[in-house]
Amino acid sequence: MKIKPGIIEWVKGFLDPEEGERLYEIGLEASRVGPCLEIGSYCGKSTLYLGSACRENGGVLYSVDHHRGSEEQQPGELYFDPELYDFQFGRINSFRYFSFILEKAELLDTVVPIAASSALAARGWATSLSLLFIDGGHSYDAVFTDYSAWVGHVRPGGYLLIHDIFTSPSQGGQAPYQIYKLALNSGLFKRHPTIKTLGILQRRVGGELPDLLS
Ligand code: MG
Repeated sequence: MKIKPGIIEWVKGFLDPEEGERLYEIGLEASRVGPCLEIGSYCGKSTLYLGSACRENGGVLYSVDHHRGSEEQQPGELYFDPELYDFQFGRINSFRYFSFILEKAELLDTVVPIAASSALAARGWATSLSLLFIDGGHSYDAVFTDYSAWVGHVRPGGYLLIHDIFTSPSQGGQAPYQIYKLALNSGLFKRHPTIKTLGILQRRVGGELPDLLS
């Protein structure tokens, strides 16, 4: 795998290495065909995997995040990280850390950071995507907004990847799993094996049968 060594081990983030390797493999396939886009850059862990794959093909990764932290990353919440708190601005600011990682990983010529909410970034978007990775806020509102604003841009044959798929509420929040099911039951996607909590769907091309899930 062609990720600049010595970085991925210490980048902050919640992505399992096995999930990351699968992201890299799919990114390698998808970026041969067209642009890739991720929602939820945070500190750049998934960006490293996807961006390094895109770089192999001279492709591009758009990485969307408002960089103000999601609900559970605010002060006092479970995933608050004081190192990401910007005292100058009085709020979470993951953009400095993220830019630093892009530079260290030599991804400045491959990754386009979009520091905006996904709804705003989608407002004028008109480019089909070979890969869409949804890993932004995990509230129902955030997840459904990300899904509905972007899923229509996944081209036939393109991938829809969703992180934090938990099939039971005892394992974790259900919003990502709900849009996973929604996508499958739209009939537009076929299913690939889930890797840990990484759901992998591929938009069908003409003639392929859909996978449906109740
Ligand atoms: Mg996640």
